[in-house]
Amino acid sequence: MPEIVRTKTTRYAIEWVKLEFLPFDEKFRAVRQRHRSTTPSRCYICHRPFADGEMMALAGCRRGNKLICRACGETLLAEFRAEVRAKDEQERMMAE
Ligand SMILES: [Zn+2]
Repeated sequence: MPEIVRTKTTRYAIEWVKLEFLPFDEKFRAVRQRHRSTTPSRCYICHRPFADGEMMALAGCRRGNKLICRACGETLLAEFRAEVRAKDEQERMMAE
């Protein structure tokens, strides 16, 4: 049957990143299952599955914080640093 597939794009503004949030271990999964209906098992950004015991990072977002892998966390932090550098540069140009 022919079909049309449409994918919705959602943009999440990230406000902060915690690189060392929690390990993806049995304790985390048990607590999560007790309190929530779903337990994410992969990075929200790159979708790579978390390995057992892997340290997860957390991205702060008004639409609900997102569990992410550390590599994605590092990428976000680099973007934050680049933004700060660009802002500093702009302020220096204005001051001159
Ligand atoms: Zn990732």
